[in-house]
Amino acid sequence: MKVLVAVKRVVDYNVKVRVKADGTGVDLTNVKMSMNPFDEIAVEEAVRLKEAGVGTEIVAVSCGVTQCQETLRTAMAIGADRGILVESNEDLQPLAVAKLLKALIDKEQPQLVILGKQAIDDDSNQTGQMVAALAGLPQATFASKVVVADGKASVTREVDGGLETLSIKLPAVVTTDLRLNEPRYVTLPNIMKAKKKPLDIVKPEDLGVNVKPRLSTVKVVEPAKRSAGVMVPDVATLVQKLKNEAKVI
Ligand code: AMP
Repeated sequence: MKVLVAVKRVVDYNVKVRVKADGTGVDLTNVKMSMNPFDEIAVEEAVRLKEAGVGTEIVAVSCGVTQCQETLRTAMAIGADRGILVESNEDLQPLAVAKLLKALIDKEQPQLVILGKQAIDDDSNQTGQMVAALAGLPQATFASKVVVADGKASVTREVDGGLETLSIKLPAVVTTDLRLNEPRYVTLPNIMKAKKKPLDIVKPEDLGVNVKPRLSTVKVVEPAKRSAGVMVPDVATLVQKLKNEAKVI
């Protein structure tokens, strides 16, 4: 079973992002970039399926600037067999990425496509759903457990008030939630091995996809600063303050 995994290069989750002075976006100069955490979980899941003898080949795909090759090398250090970079300097929005992935699904014919549930930079939570729709494949989003057997995937999802388990026919699209697994640390020998794995570079035009942005960002602003809290000595004071100062009760 071939598994295709989408990995996005994003601002590292430890970085405190700064908004550009002109409010047009987030300042990316000298900022540490890493693989989107949900995509690390996606790669880890693919590797576990391969280790369990269910998966055969893992293809990691990243869409974006040339530096996304580093993200693909990380995916290969975790255990992906090869990488494909769809290289573009355009601001790639979820629909454009979904179209690129759909074109690669047509070409590679994977049985399982795994994406993160959302990218921590744009928080869109759209790409997986759009890929499934464009490719006409069943989808199970926010997976916290995946079991593949007999041409089907049984996917457990955390929903309000409990767990829901879906059975979907392969080929299918799955998006990862936080509790699906804990990705392994990449070891130095595996980083070295990853450097020798194949990495193809294609352009959106090669896949016949127009990636021009459809949405424009009107304005980006920092969240309002929170004012300092106060300690109250007892419940009566709290109620009095909520009533008379905050005026919320
Ligand atoms: P989003 O819809 O932007 O929140 O992203 C959801 C998931 O789609 C991510 O976790 C990735 O698996 C995949 N994805 C989004 N953008 C890209 C990209 N530029 N390259 C590769 N995968 C992507």
